[in-house]
Amino acid sequence: MSLRENEPVYLIDTHAHSDAFSVPEWIESAGRALARGVSGNLSAGVWWDQFDHLLAEFSDWILPRPANREKSLEFIGSSGYHIFPALGLHPMEIASRWRSVDGRFDTSRAEADAEKFFDRARKHRNVIWAVGETGFDASSSVVAGWCGKDELLDAQTFAFRNCVRLAVEFGLPLIIHSRSAWKKTQDAVDEALAQGVKTFMVHCYGGPPSDLRWIERRGGFASFGGVITWPDAHRVRQGITECPADVLLFETDSPDLPPVLADGHRPLKNEPQFLCDVIDCAAVLRQQSAVELRAVNFKNFMRFLGF
Ligand SMILES: [Zn+2]
Repeated sequence: MSLRENEPVYLIDTHAHSDAFSVPEWIESAGRALARGVSGNLSAGVWWDQFDHLLAEFSDWILPRPANREKSLEFIGSSGYHIFPALGLHPMEIASRWRSVDGRFDTSRAEADAEKFFDRARKHRNVIWAVGETGFDASSSVVAGWCGKDELLDAQTFAFRNCVRLAVEFGLPLIIHSRSAWKKTQDAVDEALAQGVKTFMVHCYGGPPSDLRWIERRGGFASFGGVITWPDAHRVRQGITECPADVLLFETDSPDLPPVLADGHRPLKNEPQFLCDVIDCAAVLRQQSAVELRAVNFKNFMRFLGF
């Protein structure tokens, strides 16, 4: 499936956290995004209660997921700013929510949360566009408080497998978060694909540039955000330069990881409008036009969604 000649290109931020904004802040932020041509964002899932909050407070922007490509293009092209919700069990949330007092994996809490996660999924199936964030984070601040890294990875594996189950049941793609656990992520992605997950994106890709081919062979995507604009982020800047076009997506991860803008200043808080600056920076690094990269982003976003 690809974008046909006469189809429009929409500028979509493929990873942001809309509900991390207050509603008044979001109204302004969505307005600034629209003014620069950014018309929506995939809103990454963190937890079932965060998903409840998104549905309750951001209903004016939420786009239901249609069954086919034509309807989906019609919905995405309708006026206003759109949020595409995802439901996930974020590996960093797990680190604080599923840790017992002695730093072990509290399986009874995990099972109760998994039940609530599936309950939300079944109740709100019509507005879920992707499953995640899910994945592995073994960075030192996340491991802190656990009796060992393996204990935390066991908890993250439990969450990952539940996200895989949901993605297979609903035929939805996975949003992967991976930090300081790339090998573990690769094994888990292979397991997910073997179980029938259709595709995945590694959001805020920070793995080795050479592994972009590994993602390409699996039909997955690597999403690049504001980090590519940081002058000292050598590995990620190398990654965006080498990334095959059919793997490429662009995100902001708003409100986190603000980019360095063309005038050299870095805003305190990231927001979807800065997707334009991320793509402009990628255009310079890849020596490709920003117009072309906007089209690549949308074409790949539709492929990621299965349309
Ligand atoms: Zn995120």
